[in-house]
Amino acid sequence: MREKSSVLVIGGGIAGIQASLDLADRGLEVYLVEKTPSIGGRMAQLDKTFPTMDCSICILAPKMIECFRHPNIKLLTYSEVEEVSGSAGNFTVKVLRNPRFVDESKCTGCGTCMQKCPIKVPNEFEMGLGMRRAIYLPFPQAVPRVATIDKDNCLYFQKGVCKICEKFCQANAVDFDKKPEELTINVSAIIIATGFNLFNPSIIGEYGYKQYKNVITSLELERLVNASGPTGGKLLRPSDGKEPNEIAFIQCVGSRSQRKKCFPYCSSVCCMYATKESIILKEHKPEVEVYIFYIELRVFGKGFQEFVTRAREEWDVEYIRGRPDEIIEDPKTRDLIVRYEDTLDRKVKELKVGLVVLCPALIPNDSNTKLEKILGAELDEHGFFKSKDPLFAPVDTNVPGIFICGYSQGPKDIPESVAQSSGAAARAAEVIALVASEEN
Ligand SMILES: Cc1cc2nc3c(=O)[nH]c(=O)nc-3n(C[C@H](O)[C@H](O)[C@H](O)COP(=O)(O)OP(=O)(O)OC[C@H]3O[C@@H](n4cnc5c(N)ncnc54)[C@H](O)[C@@H]3O)c2cc1C
Repeated sequence: MREKSSVLVIGGGIAGIQASLDLADRGLEVYLVEKTPSIGGRMAQLDKTFPTMDCSICILAPKMIECFRHPNIKLLTYSEVEEVSGSAGNFTVKVLRNPRFVDESKCTGCGTCMQKCPIKVPNEFEMGLGMRRAIYLPFPQAVPRVATIDKDNCLYFQKGVCKICEKFCQANAVDFDKKPEELTINVSAIIIATGFNLFNPSIIGEYGYKQYKNVITSLELERLVNASGPTGGKLLRPSDGKEPNEIAFIQCVGSRSQRKKCFPYCSSVCCMYATKESIILKEHKPEVEVYIFYIELRVFGKGFQEFVTRAREEWDVEYIRGRPDEIIEDPKTRDLIVRYEDTLDRKVKELKVGLVVLCPALIPNDSNTKLEKILGAELDEHGFFKSKDPLFAPVDTNVPGIFICGYSQGPKDIPESVAQSSGAAARAAEVIALVASEEN
């Protein structure tokens, strides 16, 4: 078969991984392009996942490894799509491979370089709550298991001294002279799976994010309760390293809002993941008191309402209807006073807690705008990729041969992302089948 039985998948989160595996298992060739050093996406950062409460990385890691080992999948990590020309059945794609300054074919992922590197910087995977070295593996289960030098923080690149990693690398894998490489590939179809980013809650000044140490985000909480996270799975509050006794979640931070720089849509997963995170907190420490401030509960999936009922009745999670107006910090104890109107009894109230968890809007990936220009696939008014027809062609874009799946198309959870990815893979396979039938 010629090269045209190939598909390009952009984004290596759960959506891109699932689409790649589906295509590869059909015998089609896949190029999976991921811009960060490892595939995995946001799911790799989660502790457990609703609705099943599975350990997230335990169910994701086997799929990541399958992608790495699959003979039909070529992983292009730390890479980005730069140019696309052609049309359905025959796209030419230029991919820029950023240099890791570590030879992928030699690095064994032993970690010695990371132990010896003298530079420590905030770890993005741990949401800045832990540290990593200038030469690093993004997280223990990273795929591929290859170190990357972060040029902006490396002493050799910044000051011309050090090279300690090179000295201690027994595999001779460190190569400071590596240059970016351009790769040209030919594919029949393209699948976009670029996922989401988090809204910056500092924009809502009255919640004090980054001003008050004990105001954190939900993704930071996922890392703090995770056994391989920066606190070894103990929920310790950032101000004093003590366990909080009362914790409040605030929903819709930057979403469902007409305020400037905020987003009018619902992020779709927050009511459920806040409920999940509350149960995790209770599992860790049953006596902790957990409150969830909500506008209304959007728990529409199969078994979701029952999940919330269990959290209420079995775990004593308290749901309070109302969007808080303000958080005030007690400067002595660093405890937080949440001011809100309880919209059920219409009274203005205050709640004192040790930790506040903000659930920020989940927003389109920044790179969507660049990809829109490269691919010609249109974005909607928020910046998510637009379906050609939301009813009958939900995974098609306006460009024949280019498909979408996962959060890049709009808010959705993991099961829905997986289902949509299988749909996009099937549509991409149809393009290839059509090309083959025209050739015969
Ligand atoms: C705090 C929190 C808890 C959650 N808990 C749950 C839960 O328990 N259960 C559940 O079902 N859902 C949960 N979710 C939602 C879940 O994270 C998403 O549904 C899921 O991650 C969507 O997968 P995705 O692959 O579409 O996107 P992502 O996971 O965002 O993956 C996108 C990938 O694309 C890459 N990428 C982006 N742009 C480019 C580009 N231009 N080129 C190459 N690569 C690119 C990114 O680096 C990333 O690896 C939670 C979300 C949050 C924020």
